[in-house]
Amino acid sequence: MECKEILEKLDMYLENRLNDIEKYRIEKHLEVCSKCSKEYKELKGVFDLLSSHPVVLPPEDFTEKVMNQIKIKSKANNIRTIIIKKWGISFVAAGLLIFVLNTSFGYSTEDISSYIYEKPLSINSQITNCLKEIPSVVSRTYKKLDFKQIKFFKNK
Ligand SMILES: [Zn+2]
Repeated sequence: MECKEILEKLDMYLENRLNDIEKYRIEKHLEVCSKCSKEYKELKGVFDLLSSHPVVLPPEDFTEKVMNQIKIKSKANNIRTIIIKKWGISFVAAGLLIFVLNTSFGYSTEDISSYIYEKPLSINSQITNCLKEIPSVVSRTYKKLDFKQIKFFKNK
């Protein structure tokens, strides 16, 4: 056996999980190989330390409780995912419908979308109307400006 194979099987050797032939070959190798022998001693130290500690067992219903919690959490996540998927698809469908109706029948986007979205769109159209007024407000303000005064400030 090569060192690599010995090192891979050391834990199985310590746990007495090898057949007699493998055990014999490992023991023979450890007698002649200082590198593997050193590794074996270190690993055996860890095994002895761990086996000297008492085994702590979880309560009897531990697995059941954990599994129940997982089920509850995954159900909640599923419901959330379904809601997001459902509404996401609905909004995409509504958007597509508006686009199709708008391009094929020439209805105004606002009319159709307000029909579909109702309240949210009424808020949107209020914002749109405000935005539409901006250019006229700007041009009115522009006309009222006293350019003589502006020139005065520029020269100063
Ligand atoms: Zn070796």
